[in-house]
Amino acid sequence: MTKIITDVVCPFCGTLCDDLEVAVSDDGEEILEVYNACAIGATKFLHSQAKDRITRPRMKQEDGSWKEVTYDDAVDYTANLLVDAKKPLMYGWSSTSCPAQGVGSEIGEEVCACMDNTATVCHGSTLIAVQDVGVPSATLGEIANRADRVVFWGGCNPAHAHPRHMSRYSIFPRGFFTGKGSKSRKMIVVDPRKTDTAKMADVHLQLEQGRDYELLSAIRVAIRGEELPDFVAGIPKEEIYETAETLKSGRFTVIFFGMGVTHSLGKNHNIDIAIMVTRDLNDYTKAAIVAMRGGHYNVTGSGQVWGGWQFGFPFCLDLTRGFARYNPGDSSSNDLLVRDEVDAVFVLGSDPPGAHFPVRSVKKIAQLPSVCIDPHITPPTSAVSKMHVPVAFVGVEVGGCAYRMDNVPIETRKVVEPPEGMLTDEEFLQKVLDRVRELKGGQHNHDRVSHQKWFCLRLFRGGLTETKWMSLSKTARSSMQAMSQSRPSLMPLA
Ligand code: SF4
Repeated sequence: MTKIITDVVCPFCGTLCDDLEVAVSDDGEEILEVYNACAIGATKFLHSQAKDRITRPRMKQEDGSWKEVTYDDAVDYTANLLVDAKKPLMYGWSSTSCPAQGVGSEIGEEVCACMDNTATVCHGSTLIAVQDVGVPSATLGEIANRADRVVFWGGCNPAHAHPRHMSRYSIFPRGFFTGKGSKSRKMIVVDPRKTDTAKMADVHLQLEQGRDYELLSAIRVAIRGEELPDFVAGIPKEEIYETAETLKSGRFTVIFFGMGVTHSLGKNHNIDIAIMVTRDLNDYTKAAIVAMRGGHYNVTGSGQVWGGWQFGFPFCLDLTRGFARYNPGDSSSNDLLVRDEVDAVFVLGSDPPGAHFPVRSVKKIAQLPSVCIDPHITPPTSAVSKMHVPVAFVGVEVGGCAYRMDNVPIETRKVVEPPEGMLTDEEFLQKVLDRVRELKGGQHNHDRVSHQKWFCLRLFRGGLTETKWMSLSKTARSSMQAMSQSRPSLMPLA
């Protein structure tokens, strides 16, 4: 008999719809049907059932063919690759669970890697802007219930990229204060293209490409009722005044923005000023701004794990000195690859060649020792990697926490068993971490953390004096003494 599993979370995009229903066979092994999901979400569930799915790790041979190997071999290969490299790049992390990201970060610390996630090619500039100026934000639930002015700005095309966003949260739902659904809301789209989302809008401002900063500045001017030139970014001033008035007159305005703003001229400064528009609107009404994140469902989570929990920086992490440094444009994966600064590549939960990496970076990945951890064949990445390790689909064959685009954590659910003998990515990473520690002779993460604290002391307090040394706990002192043997150049009190 068929079983229906309810309240399933879709692990495809950052909308993380949590109302799916999945029909599975009564032995719990096969997905028969997926209800409520959009086409791309349903396809991901059904993709896990593909008859040609790779279920064991594969190593590329000299002639380009693949040879099946065991998980133990794959663990050994990956651990050796990371330990032997002087500066490995560990990239991706956006299509996996937060616990797996946590274990991956421990590996990164052990092998002094550069770690980066897919924000580096999407909303990294948003993260920089939020660090610069803060962000007045809201959850998608609040937006569904309250927002009566909804703006989709700059490359933000939910009709295609997040197909259920408008029906669940932003335009069509009948909320507590938005009882008439889409009739309660005014929808404004700002985009140089006539997208399918733009065709549904009450107002479409078709600005000139790359001139978002000017138009956002003009809206700030219009909100204050000051003078504007006749046209800004190709938009007549009357339309700008009208838009400003619409935004001010609502009870709750929300601005969603996409990669048309984060990756056009101005980058993080476009987001700075969009946040300032939101702040200005709060003088007249309630207003919030939300990045339309999540072509990968948990890119927001990787920023939370690294930025909010483990390192203080949400992407472009450089751990090569044993502590976290952050310098986007220098420590970002593409810069490292094109400058030829990394000597091994580890990819998990993303497809860098297929998703926005320039061809120079892809060529570099193809030349280096590399491993790709992915549930199925991800065409360019698994093809250019030297080792491909299939793992269970998070959100389908194993649960785990993921963060929605509005930074709300949601626990995904397991609906079917993975193929027999297949590891989850967290299990695989844990085995790699254990093997890395074995190869390094049992040196553990807490040494590194103590070392990091000590190094910070040395850097920021002008050296470790006898008094400071004695004021440290016994454990911290013995950890540092252990470190002094492996890194004497860094220990003044050796
Ligand atoms: S909108 Fe996104 S999360 Fe929702 S069902 Fe579609 S792909 Fe899945």
